[in-house]
Amino acid sequence: MIQSIGMAAFSAREPLVPWEFTRREPGPRDVVIDIEYCGICHSDLHTVRAEWGKVDFPVVPGHEIVGTVHALGEDVTRFKPGERVGVGCLVDSCRTCSACRQHMEQYCTTGNTWTYDSIEKETGRPTQGGYSLNIVVTEDFVLRVPGSLDPAAAAPLLCAGTTTWSPLVHHGVGQGSRVGVVGLGGLGHMAVRLAAAMGAEVLVFTRSENKVADAKRLGAAQVVVGEGRGSLNHYRESLDFIVDTVSAPHDLEYEMRMLRLDGSLCLVGVSPEAHAMPRASTFIGRRRSITGSLIGGIRETQEMLDFCGQHNISADIELISADYINTAYDRMLRSDVKYRFVMDVATLKGAVATV
Ligand code: NAP
Ligand code: ZN
Ligand code: ZN
Repeated sequence: MIQSIGMAAFSAREPLVPWEFTRREPGPRDVVIDIEYCGICHSDLHTVRAEWGKVDFPVVPGHEIVGTVHALGEDVTRFKPGERVGVGCLVDSCRTCSACRQHMEQYCTTGNTWTYDSIEKETGRPTQGGYSLNIVVTEDFVLRVPGSLDPAAAAPLLCAGTTTWSPLVHHGVGQGSRVGVVGLGGLGHMAVRLAAAMGAEVLVFTRSENKVADAKRLGAAQVVVGEGRGSLNHYRESLDFIVDTVSAPHDLEYEMRMLRLDGSLCLVGVSPEAHAMPRASTFIGRRRSITGSLIGGIRETQEMLDFCGQHNISADIELISADYINTAYDRMLRSDVKYRFVMDVATLKGAVATV
């Protein structure tokens, strides 16, 4: 077994604390990664506070992992020791169902293995995520992180990047598209950068006045502040596609009405409570749809990373030490992060487990 130390939640109500645990012995196709940085995703917070349902505590969250290859199983061919690599939300899948065969492991029908709060096939133990010193992952779920990118700022690409990239590509966003991004947090700011780099004209909808200048710097052509109803007159039927990254229930009616004929509103934010359903006439009158999208498959995540390497795209981050994680969660809940917290995992070295 490989010794590790991570920041773990022991219940939905307690702060995260340092915890010593073990990783599996690497098998022939495993990559042992020394983690350098891990992004802090709102999904980590939803999970550890049991907002999405039951959690198998203790859990070490974290699925925006960047590090270097420490060791390799004897059959690994694609990686070398010392190479910079990443791990996202998935560490395995069935590999045989129709979704897996089409490189959409996130939609695996027989059950994929999430990076944390899932069951590791090799051991039957719970998986533990990236707020930790190391991780052992089968090579097919390890990504290559472009050397040109700052590794800390690249970490959020592993979830926030791929989660916004996947629906933009799937819905054909490109030159000439007009795209709305709702909510300028971790996912939202990546959506703006990626859609702008794909050639789209981007409109940002935010509740935060203090994010307007940033939204423009990130690539937005226009920024709308407020809950949106007031902006309807200006933007009615003007958008082809909307990515909604908001983590709480809110009004979808006005967002829908900003879509043109055949436009789609794609929910990527996973509000724990249901949204109110827009009126039937709002769908029917312009053949609009509401859809959703779950992270990205491994192949498209690598394509996104390569695109980001070529276009020098990464996240705007605030680097934190491990012991700041509970404050970071509180600030994330207040939308007070520009635009992703990233844990400097080296600060865990020497941490004393309190449990
Ligand atoms: P985040 O950094 O907290 O950003 C969410 C943003 O939504 C906030 O910055 C805020 O932006 C806006 N917002 C928050 N509460 C709101 C409310 N009550 N009404 C209106 N706007 C509100 O979170 P994140 O890490 O980007 O994640 C966003 C959501 O996506 C979470 O639910 C997360 O679990 C989910 N997620 C989904 C996937 C997937 O595969 N679909 C993957 C990763 C994350 P403004 O300040 O601009 O208003
Ligand atoms: Zn995430
Ligand atoms: Zn599958």
